Amino acid sequence: MEKINIFWFRRDLRIFDNHGLAEIFSQNKSNIYPVFIFDENICDSLAIDDHRITLIYSLVSKLNNELKPFNSSIHIYKGEPLSIFKELSNRFTIQSVFANEDYEQYGIKRDKSISKLFQTENIDFQLFQDHVIVKPGEIRKKDQSIYQIYTPFKNQYLSSLSAIDCLEHEVILNTKQLYQSETTFPNLNDLGFIESNIKVPEIHLSELDDYDEKRNFPSLDATSKLGSSLRFGSVSIRKLFRDHKHKDVFISELIWREFFIHILYFYPNSSDSPFKSKYDCIPWRNNADEFKKWCNGETGYPLVDAGMRELNQTGFMHNRVRMVVASFLCKHLLIDWKWGERYFAKKLFDFDLASNVGNWQWAAGTGCDAAPYFRVFNPITQHQKFDKHSKYVSKWVPEWQNLDYRPMLDHAFARKRAIDTYKQALESK
Ligand code: FAD
Repeated sequence: MEKINIFWFRRDLRIFDNHGLAEIFSQNKSNIYPVFIFDENICDSLAIDDHRITLIYSLVSKLNNELKPFNSSIHIYKGEPLSIFKELSNRFTIQSVFANEDYEQYGIKRDKSISKLFQTENIDFQLFQDHVIVKPGEIRKKDQSIYQIYTPFKNQYLSSLSAIDCLEHEVILNTKQLYQSETTFPNLNDLGFIESNIKVPEIHLSELDDYDEKRNFPSLDATSKLGSSLRFGSVSIRKLFRDHKHKDVFISELIWREFFIHILYFYPNSSDSPFKSKYDCIPWRNNADEFKKWCNGETGYPLVDAGMRELNQTGFMHNRVRMVVASFLCKHLLIDWKWGERYFAKKLFDFDLASNVGNWQWAAGTGCDAAPYFRVFNPITQHQKFDKHSKYVSKWVPEWQNLDYRPMLDHAFARKRAIDTYKQALESK
């Protein structure tokens, strides 16, 4: 049987500065066989026109085009990774499989079960750090315990960061080492999907000079829109650090991402239960009709409705507005943060379990380093402060000044109800 060495693309859909890919070349492997798997365990729960699938498809097509000049291609599969590797090992002698580490529970379990198969078949399985600059557990408190608060985590992160951590892992594609093949690249329909109408947000990297001053104002559209590129690895986190190392505020945001990856890694149960267990007693009202209004952007609060409509139509929502809509759901409507988290998971281009859970728990007050429960965002003053000229709101909710556009519930009433409910529940613990 033909001998191959597999490079398995996962959350790292790029050639440039891809650590695992650089390693498979530098360890002088030959017949390097690039693979991407549309994992049925994930895809089966998504709509066939899911916009993230369309995005992944376009990223792997791009990879394929980059491999073409070297008479090579990316081999696309759809199914369960374990079964795919079993099939591949019936066709080839797989000498090694290289990939980059995944820190999410599902990915960790998948890699464990696959590595058992590889052990029995004598396949060398090598994983590399690529998705983050600081790996979960790499920095700890002096007593070796895990950071649960962002600011000390960030301080330690920055002080332990060395230039080496951000160096490029250079990938030199070459015909000699790549598996030579002319496989026809499947189209999206062959894979059982259809193209989404929702277009991926355009990345803004050249405009980040005023990020600090402008990032909180949704109408200015002054954030990077890098979320999905980081999620799927089409940009290198190391390159972002290298290129923007003097932009402290932007770098701090990138560290939030790693902080939440670190939290979910060490506290995997926090994906569906409150990080602070004493918050598991909040008597959520969970009114389905009210939830529907929130989802559809029909709460009668312009900033909340604008955010939800932006999300539904584009798969993106500005961070400031995410905070306001999340607080509104958990506090004003007393709906379980997990309902909101699952809704965002369905809609966001940049959905990432660690960041989504971390931020939702932050908004609900149940998280590790959360807003205190009595902090209830006021959707009216947030609108006045962050969308002073109502440019953002008018774009998404043109009817917001009509007489029949009214709030679904009174802010002062909802605020008091939320604080009283949280207080009573916590005192009864
Ligand atoms: P920029 O402001 O340009 O930031 C650059 C990058 O820094 C982001 O792409 C992201 O990777 C990281 N970042 C920025 N803010 C945060 C943050 N608060 N937490 C973690 N990382 C951050 N971000 C996700 O990537 N995926 C999610 O599923 C997600 N869900 C969220 C849910 C709620 C309720 C809230 C309040 C925030 C959520 N965020 C999530 C964080 C943040 O809103 C987005 O990362 C940001 O809006 C993406 O836009 P951007 O790339 O233009 O951000």
